[in-house]
Amino acid sequence: MYPQSTTFGDPRRLSHNAALEKGREYSRRYRSEHPERVHEYQREYRAAHRDEKRECSREWYLAHREKALERDHEYYEVHHEEALERKRKYYETHRDIKRKWQRHYYADHADERRAKAQEWRVAHPEESRAHGLRRRALQAGVTIEPVNASEVYERDHYLCHVCRRLVPARERSLDHLIPLTRGGAHSMNNVALAHRRCNSKRYNSGPAQLLLFHEPAK
Ligand SMILES: [Zn+2]
Repeated sequence: MYPQSTTFGDPRRLSHNAALEKGREYSRRYRSEHPERVHEYQREYRAAHRDEKRECSREWYLAHREKALERDHEYYEVHHEEALERKRKYYETHRDIKRKWQRHYYADHADERRAKAQEWRVAHPEESRAHGLRRRALQAGVTIEPVNASEVYERDHYLCHVCRRLVPARERSLDHLIPLTRGGAHSMNNVALAHRRCNSKRYNSGPAQLLLFHEPAK
């Protein structure tokens, strides 16, 4: 049996505290003298306990969801720039993987995508034709300027530049006066309203010189 007054002044307890303190002092010194060994050890420890740690974090997250969200939010407010930078870096290193994934996705959903595109074209016939023209211009590598179809229709008084007759809305098309294939620009000055029928008849048959629109003198 120990005597009653063991809690204070007990030499065994004192030496126990002293030993603890000595141990702490030793480990402090060790850490400061061998930082790389400590890091190495921490890395190994983390690697060995990764799953445990994840499970633990997940449990904590589930139990403290509100708090976690708030914390994340606060973190982003303070580290906004860093977070953006990290995102950018992540995107850069994963770009190829992402592209590959996208290609696969597109290939797997080709029919679906075609159907969607077709739906859009039916719902937006004029925009769709304008897109088509722009794409052809891009492919031809000619100068591209903003072309506003409805402005062209109005400028041309809704008359077809080929047959000079009125063009109903569903038959409207834009015609390049100097064809793109001959280096004509995709620009307000090089497009005119035409029936779709007249347009395709005239396709690539040569510049409609007389009709070229010139910029008003400045
Ligand atoms: Zn016509």
